[in-house]
Amino acid sequence: MEPAELQKNCFGHCQDCGREHSLGEGNAHEHARALMEEFQRIRRLDYTVPDKDADPRLSFDHLFPGERGHMFGVLECRDEAGETVVLRAFSSLHDGVRTVDGWVPPILSDEVFNELVLPGQIEIKRLTRAINALDHSSQQRAKLSEERKKISQGLMPEIHSRYHLRNFRGETRLLEDAFIRPHGLPGGVGDCCGPKLLQHAAVNGLGPVGLAEFYWGGPHKSGTRQPGRFYPCCEEKCQPILGFMLCGLENV
Ligand SMILES: [Zn+2]
Ligand SMILES: [Zn+2]
Repeated sequence: MEPAELQKNCFGHCQDCGREHSLGEGNAHEHARALMEEFQRIRRLDYTVPDKDADPRLSFDHLFPGERGHMFGVLECRDEAGETVVLRAFSSLHDGVRTVDGWVPPILSDEVFNELVLPGQIEIKRLTRAINALDHSSQQRAKLSEERKKISQGLMPEIHSRYHLRNFRGETRLLEDAFIRPHGLPGGVGDCCGPKLLQHAAVNGLGPVGLAEFYWGGPHKSGTRQPGRFYPCCEEKCQPILGFMLCGLENV
């Protein structure tokens, strides 16, 4: 890769400053490679506990069956004393895994998740089971399907109204106000590693120096993702919020 491209791994346009903000990679690739070596060795996410206490749900065999894989990220930071702190993140996982010790938490707090998202998800699952048990032509099935659709559509605006991003000026903004594309929010904005890492750094007074995101797991059939390869922050979900999230970084 050319140096110019390396600088382009994490960036976005800032509406407030009228220009682009970006973050380079610093030594993040080295830290990420160390993480990959650890992955090959212990093959699970809960690296802070000994083998005997490992949660089977967090083993790679369970998380990445078949062709599945995930994006992981590493953010190299400096704390107030100038010491290097390396944060690590996984993009959202299946099976309801949200927080794992030693990894940055999701941006949406557990409090909001448990209050808003979880009850909705449980209701949607209940309705899905009921729908699947009914005959395709039954009126009841159509009624329940409609009910399920209303719940899932109603959930998104509620979640978005409680979803706040922090930047390095110390400003907090609603996700939907920070997102700068005109076509509305796609699902899963804020679930990628880059925003999770930057949010955690901003909230905890850490100054980011470099970011690296890589894919791990089975290779995608489409060939778009290869295990161990680095990828820039995604254009669809991350770039439209990164302008806000990176704002103020030059002054940290
Ligand atoms: Zn992304
Ligand atoms: Zn700015």
